[in-house]
Order: sequence, then structure tokens, then C-alpha cells
Amino acid sequence: MRVFYGGIATETNTFSPLPTGKQAFGESRYPAAGPAPVDSFLYGPLSVELDRRSAASGWTVMRGLCAFAQPGGRTTRAAWTSLRDELLADLQNALPVDIVLLGLHGAMVADGCDDCEGELLREARRLAGPDAIIGASLDPHGLLSDQMVTEADILVSYKEYPHTDIEETVVQLVELCSRIASGEANPVSAVHDCGMLALFHTTREPMRQIVADMRAAEASGRALNVSFMHSFPWADVPDAGAKVLVTHDGDLLSAETLAREFAARIHACRGNTSAPALSVSEAVEEARREVGWPLIIAEAADNPGGGAAGDGTILLRALLDAGLRDIVAGPMWDPVAVSLCFEAGEGACIPLRIGGKAGAGSGLPLDVEATVQQLVVDAAQSFVATKVPMGASAAVGIRFANGARAQVVLVSRRGQGFGRDLFTSMGIRLETAKRVLVKSSHHFHADFSLLSQRIVYVHGPGTMNLDVRSLPYRRVNRELWPLCDDDRMKLDT
Ligand SMILES: [Zn+2]
Repeated sequence: MRVFYGGIATETNTFSPLPTGKQAFGESRYPAAGPAPVDSFLYGPLSVELDRRSAASGWTVMRGLCAFAQPGGRTTRAAWTSLRDELLADLQNALPVDIVLLGLHGAMVADGCDDCEGELLREARRLAGPDAIIGASLDPHGLLSDQMVTEADILVSYKEYPHTDIEETVVQLVELCSRIASGEANPVSAVHDCGMLALFHTTREPMRQIVADMRAAEASGRALNVSFMHSFPWADVPDAGAKVLVTHDGDLLSAETLAREFAARIHACRGNTSAPALSVSEAVEEARREVGWPLIIAEAADNPGGGAAGDGTILLRALLDAGLRDIVAGPMWDPVAVSLCFEAGEGACIPLRIGGKAGAGSGLPLDVEATVQQLVVDAAQSFVATKVPMGASAAVGIRFANGARAQVVLVSRRGQGFGRDLFTSMGIRLETAKRVLVKSSHHFHADFSLLSQRIVYVHGPGTMNLDVRSLPYRRVNRELWPLCDDDRMKLDT
């Protein structure tokens, strides 16, 4: 079996002020000629599984470009076309192949191309030919297009949010492609639209049970795979919207029936698929309440994992204005402030301007008196089994004139908060913290819920405001809940 793998992935927030260019992809870029991407959370599991198949079954595995960019604004035309052409040239060099496996996100939007994954799959099909098996892994926050479904033999998304099942998904994808290539399975796929834009926390009901039932459908043979594409509400493109994709072994009617069943169940749960979110002032009131420390405060509106800058000050300022102490906050993206801290050195006390630089959604900079507590040249935090680099980072203790105090982790490499070691690796003790402000929508939950179950989500304002009705959409389908008030199931049920 000759197998080719590679991928280009990012999640595009079309409302973000940050262009996603070649430099953004350069932070996590593995060209075909270089070392395998074993330390990449996206490509590492695919690389490891294909190595295993190579050793166990004698597969000939060839790798092309693997590139990932931290979510941001629209990918530039130059970055998209050069990455696409590089990956396709790698595939061309590997031909003939039996299987093409692509590690994708699904929500990559470029200047001039709304459906990057669809275009990539179409071009891969053109090169590899009609008999090659083409499969791809997807992030459930991807935007599923008809073109993607048509061009691939099988698409498999992670089921969990936080995405704690990447490894399991990749193993499933490789096994399915192996079975299809050897003629043991005949995939036919159907998609059903859920008619909604929302977040779906699989850590809580009702999504917990729905995910369990999707797995049960696969285990019982009702489907080869059930992929629920949550979609990404901050991508203003016509393909946005939650969809269920079911792949069945040979029976299209069964695939359609199951996709419709799950889509109807999910639609019936609208308004209840994620934890409720507070306003900034409600979050401040919650942070005053002297119960059950620490309180974890998820700053979803400034989540770099969804394309926000991560240098937002709106929520931190509100907590400081309220005179609160025992706050830890991070990761705050501010390479300039980090470089000033490195110049001053550990123990120095300096005037420091923090955050509020990238755009209007970031709020205004915070001018503080800062004590440089700890400096780390190459800091990292954990996400599931991988280490996520934060670059040169500084932990600073800051104080406001009103007596408010906080410890803030400043990072030079933009990214969301995943693990508690975001703070502890920077010398910050969480045992004494009362208010833990973490820039993340939900991925933090996998690890921070071990610290405390008292968790609040804050919706905005910011680049990733959770109140999707407030977003300045121009191209998204207006028939989706909650953009339309009509609660009727507008689907062909
Ligand atoms: Zn995701």
C-alpha cells in the first residue's frame, strides 16, 4: 500500500484584524524534506499511526508538507497559493498512491477562496486519480462544503470539544481508509444541516449523550462514521452552519436517515448546547462572591484559538477596576512587553504598557507598575499529550492605583490557554489564586476543571463575541438559528 499524507490547516475568523500570512504558517511548518511532525498536535498522531502501519503492514508512507497556523484572520492569497502548490507538488512527486490522507481543519478561508479544504481535496483527486482513496481528518469547527464531501472518500472529524480525541480519530480514519482501499468497505456519505450556528460543549449534556450515541451508531454498524461538524460561527461564509455527516457502508438511504435523526436531535437542543455565558459586569460580580475559590473565568471573546488577538484587556481591566486581588491571568500576547521585561530582568520593577494593541476588539492598553517575577526563553504549556509553545514569556505582578493586583503571563507566541502549567511553569502558584482568568473558549476545560469546578464563561465584547447575533455578518445564511427568530425546523425532515 502506497500512502501519502500531509496537510494545511488553520481556523479563519473573518472578523479578526490579524492577517494570516506565510509567517503565521512558518511557526508550525514541516516541509516534505524535513523531520516528521511528531510534536505537532495535529499531524503528530497521523505521523505516529502511519509509522506503525509501515512497520506492521509494510506500507510505503510518503509525507508532503504539513503546515498549521494559529487561528487568525483570512489567509493571504500569497500564503494560500504557495502552500497549496507546495503540498500538491509533493503529492505529484509521490505518485502513484493508493491512499491520500490529509490533516485538515475545515475552516480555512483565504483571500479569493472560501473553501480551501474543498479546493485542496479537488486538486488532490485530480492528481491522484479516481481510484485513489482520499481521506481527511477534520476539526469539528470546520465548515463542511458539498465540494469536500464529493471529492473525498471519507471525512472524519473529532467528536470531543475540547478536542481530546484527536489520536483516536486519526487511528479510525487510517483504519477506514485501509478497509476502503482493500475493498472491505464501500463508503457513501450524506449530510444533514442542523439549521443553527452555536457552540457545542461535549463536556456536558445534552451533547455528552449525543456524542455517546454517535459512537454507539458506529460500534453497532449503523454507520462507518458519524461526524458532527459544529462549524465556526466567526467565519462569515455561505457554508457556515452545523451539519451532521454520516458515512455508511454502501447504503445511502441509511446514511441519510441517520444524519437526519442526529441533525433533528441537535436542532431540538438549540440554546442549550453550551454553558451559559455572562456579560463582563456579571463576571465581575461573580468574581466578588466569596465562595468556592478559585473561580475560573474563561475569556472566550479574546480567544486566540478562535482567531482573536489574545491581547485583550477588557475583562482584566474590569476586574482591576473593581479593586480585586489574587487574580492570575493569561496568556496575554504582547511580544513588546515581553522584550521590555527581558531587558529589565527578573526582580525589576518597571512601568509597563500591556495589551490592547491589535485592534478595536482588544480594548485599550493597560498602563501598570509591573514587577518582573519570572522569565522563560522558550516557555510551553500542555494540551492533552503535546506541548504547545508560548515563546519567550514573562510572569509579571501588576498593581493598580486602587490597590488591585494581578499576576499576568505575557507571551510572545500567540495562543490560547490550555493547561494549568501555562501559569505554574512560569512560577505562579495556583493554590492561592482566587480568580483565574484564562483566554480560551472551552479547550481550557480539559485541564482547568481539575483545579476547580467553579467556571464561568464571558461572552464579550471582543473579536470572538459569543453573542453571534451581534456579529456583522454579510454572507452567512440568515436562515440559521439564532439569526432568524423562526424556530421551525426548516429542513426536509
Ligand atoms: Zn476546534
